[in-house]
Amino acid sequence: MIKIPVPIKVLSAALLPLMIYSCSTTEESGMQPQPEPKPVYEIPKSHQDTVAFIYSRALGLDSTAVKPMDANNVLIDGDMVLAKSTLTQMLSTLPIVEAKDSTKSVKSPYVVNNYRVFKIGINPGQMATGVESALYSAIGYWNGILIQYGAEFNFMAFSDPGPSDIMFYTSGYPTVDEPFLVTLPGTAGLPGGAITLNTSYLDTHNITRDQLVSGMVHALGHILGLQHSDRKKNAYYDAGNIGDSASVMHSHFPKGPHTKMFSKGDTAMVKRLFPAPNWPVQSAGNITDLAGIEITAGNATLYYTKTGKVIRGSWDNAVGPTTTFTGRTDIANTDIIEISMTTANRFYAYFSNGYYMNGEMYKLGNNPVDAYNQAYPAPGQSMATFIGTTVKRSNNDHCYWYTDGTYSVGRSNNWATYSSGGKYTVPAGKKFTDIKAIATDDEGRYYFWYKDNTVSRSATLDHSNPEGPVAVKVN
Ligand SMILES: [Zn+2]
Repeated sequence: MIKIPVPIKVLSAALLPLMIYSCSTTEESGMQPQPEPKPVYEIPKSHQDTVAFIYSRALGLDSTAVKPMDANNVLIDGDMVLAKSTLTQMLSTLPIVEAKDSTKSVKSPYVVNNYRVFKIGINPGQMATGVESALYSAIGYWNGILIQYGAEFNFMAFSDPGPSDIMFYTSGYPTVDEPFLVTLPGTAGLPGGAITLNTSYLDTHNITRDQLVSGMVHALGHILGLQHSDRKKNAYYDAGNIGDSASVMHSHFPKGPHTKMFSKGDTAMVKRLFPAPNWPVQSAGNITDLAGIEITAGNATLYYTKTGKVIRGSWDNAVGPTTTFTGRTDIANTDIIEISMTTANRFYAYFSNGYYMNGEMYKLGNNPVDAYNQAYPAPGQSMATFIGTTVKRSNNDHCYWYTDGTYSVGRSNNWATYSSGGKYTVPAGKKFTDIKAIATDDEGRYYFWYKDNTVSRSATLDHSNPEGPVAVKVN
């Protein structure tokens, strides 16, 4: 009998498939349907690294995927780092993955699907040119698919001092031919703790921005516990993307050609693993009574009510799954004039007293950095003439519109840092003062919502040649 330092029940459970399937061979069968999936495991060529084999069973991988990395960590499948201590913990607490069609048995390596914003800690001053904006794009892709299909969590980049869930590092690993090294989740229902950009890879490969972004999308998938889609079918639980060569989780995804980000299999996987929360469907009520409106990555429209509700709908539908948000304890949500969002998924809310707070999607205030600062509108303007704001997806400039038919472009505190006095128009029959809220979407269109429950959108900041106004469904 093989001597290994793991509990006997784990050992026998792990070896069971070995004994049963020791005569089988598994060849990648592409996308051909397999009528009766069974847990067919690849048998290691040698048993020298038996512990790695057992560990790999716990992760649903074959033993060749697990390699020593350093004293404390193993490298899995080329780009995933897992602490040996976490593996040991998994062995004693997690069920062995047996490719059963049971979300419960495989959920453990994945994050718990209770609403959270996973804050990715970055140090903008130390990031190479283009890396920060590439990370924002990658966050946008994930948030787009997660929010669109209803998962309760999303990612946010976070550069302020304070606790982060995931740290973004930059370091050189000359022996690792991968753009990123990523830690897998542990057993606490949280994502992996670190993404490391491998500068050695950047030094030796001439990669494009698109490849950098897709590499980060792939890395964020590992952060959530997803493994490579080109692993042998039936080696572990297939949530929808196993064998899908277009998946963002294909081991060659960042390097190989692709035409779009998430594949059909990825979409199925997201729906399966991170399902929509069971939120009641409610109406946001009349547009004129709202605290603000913003459009997220993936073009979900969030309607924030002054009573602390958030309704997830679309640009012309304010009826949808409804949850709640919190603001600050020292000023009421009823004093919010408008809300905006950056591509780092950071939300800003502006108050009638001239201050703004920033925070997460559903924790607008007192989180994450307790920011509560004075805002300075464009020259000649005030909170009384301010009617709407949003943040350009292309460069994170904050844009503000006023009741006199002008707009300014600046930052969250200084609203005219870049320009002011630009003229905009509204559709026939509307007045500037009819505007209640403004947002932009992934395609760079600008939306004006009016107090009479209508909305129009235009390709430009000045709202020329708008589509609409059309009615917004409010009940
Ligand atoms: Zn990978």
